[in-house]
Amino acid sequence: TNAGSEPEERVLEAALRPRNLDDFVGQSRVRQQLSLVLEAAKIRERTADHVLLSGPPGLGKTTLSMIIAAEMNAPLRISSGPAIQHAGDLAAILSSLTEGEVLFLDEIHRMSRPAEEMLYMAMEDFRVDIVVGKGAGATAIPLELPPFTLVGATTRAGLLPGPLRDRFGFTGHLEFYAVQELELVLRRSAMMLDLSVTSAAFTEIAGRSRGTPRIANRLLRRVRDWALVHKLEEIDHKAASAALDMYEVDARGLDRLDRGVLEALCTKFGGGPVGLSTLAIAVGEETETVETVAEPYLVREGLMGRTPRGRIAMPGAWEHLGLAMPKDAIF
Ligand code: ADP
Repeated sequence: TNAGSEPEERVLEAALRPRNLDDFVGQSRVRQQLSLVLEAAKIRERTADHVLLSGPPGLGKTTLSMIIAAEMNAPLRISSGPAIQHAGDLAAILSSLTEGEVLFLDEIHRMSRPAEEMLYMAMEDFRVDIVVGKGAGATAIPLELPPFTLVGATTRAGLLPGPLRDRFGFTGHLEFYAVQELELVLRRSAMMLDLSVTSAAFTEIAGRSRGTPRIANRLLRRVRDWALVHKLEEIDHKAASAALDMYEVDARGLDRLDRGVLEALCTKFGGGPVGLSTLAIAVGEETETVETVAEPYLVREGLMGRTPRGRIAMPGAWEHLGLAMPKDAIF
């Protein structure tokens, strides 16, 4: 997933990752269910069932896969759908797994079809057929695999073909975090970064974090930079909001893509309804990005609606953009 751009940012992001389920903030239902799956596997002395995690970027899917491996006392291998273009790429990974290993496949919906088919068999029977040769002379050589746990991550479970989805023993859907939960994430991060931050500043940063821990941590680092340059000992509400205004994060946490989508919806399409792909073209983004990154948050914030005829702007959208709602808008 899209980690911070600079290496230093990535190191910090890694350092801020919670290492066990108890330190993982929020998502209480997924946490409880997952904890049960892992406990049961430990009692039965078996590898845990395959786990599918779905949800927008930055909500903790990678972190949870690391926690699963740690809780199972197992090594973790990380790869991703886009990195597996040929069945052979997957065969190479699978054949080098050790018993009980956790394999994390990020963006699993982006795997190629042949690799996907190989994965079905590996998940179900811990076996793959390695095809040697081409055409009429091709032979399939069966290869036994040690039992392993696959943790697949996808931005939306619906992007996965049914047969693949069905092979996961447990599916956890991650939701956007509440402001209070993001405050907890931020408090923990501030402690680790040795920053002094007031409660009001935590609330301000959390409120602008788009319900996303990765963004919360990133904004905290930007606010930290601001405080450093302005020689502030303590980060207060004023400093936090001044810094975030400068980085163009608005009061509701909408980023450039979110605002672009809303603006296009309101100004180019009169508030809709408009098809998702048309909307994506208008903002110059891939349909999947608009659907899995921008839309979930805009819908949750009540700014955009989904109808059978397309996406529509909700009354709050015009208000948020400071525009007058046209009389013939769908609302
Ligand atoms: P994803 O894989 O869903 O894109 P990550 O697992 O990479 O998201 O999480 C991004 C960052 O957000 C991590 O560095 C981690 O520090 C933080 N984070 C995510 N979820 C939580 C959580 N529940 N509690 C604390 N920090 C979290």
